[in-house]
Amino acid sequence: MQLFVKCKTCQRPLGIANEAAVRAQLPEYFTLKCTYADCPMHDRIQYFESHDAQAASGGAGTVGGALMVGVLGALLGGPLGLLLGGAVGGGVGRAIDTDDVRAAARFNAS
Ligand SMILES: [Zn+2]
Repeated sequence: MQLFVKCKTCQRPLGIANEAAVRAQLPEYFTLKCTYADCPMHDRIQYFESHDAQAASGGAGTVGGALMVGVLGALLGGPLGLLLGGAVGGGVGRAIDTDDVRAAARFNAS
């Protein structure tokens, strides 16, 4: 899973390099700089609290994988293939993601 906070100015997610499994394992207060070059707060220190942090499961890779299987199904068998491809892709994504989804949910509930 990936931990992030939202920039207080542009609301875009800023990743946190931290292995905390629950909110209590993060520092109570920490600082981050917005990494988006077009943000007014770019490269300026912002203060966050541990409860500002959120967890998201998986990464772009898992979602991309499921989508690609769905597209492959569409190429092979039209609407039915798309349905099957999507179902298989989604199932594989879920199987890989389950622990990660639980970990993210646990963090968000903490
Ligand atoms: Zn920003």
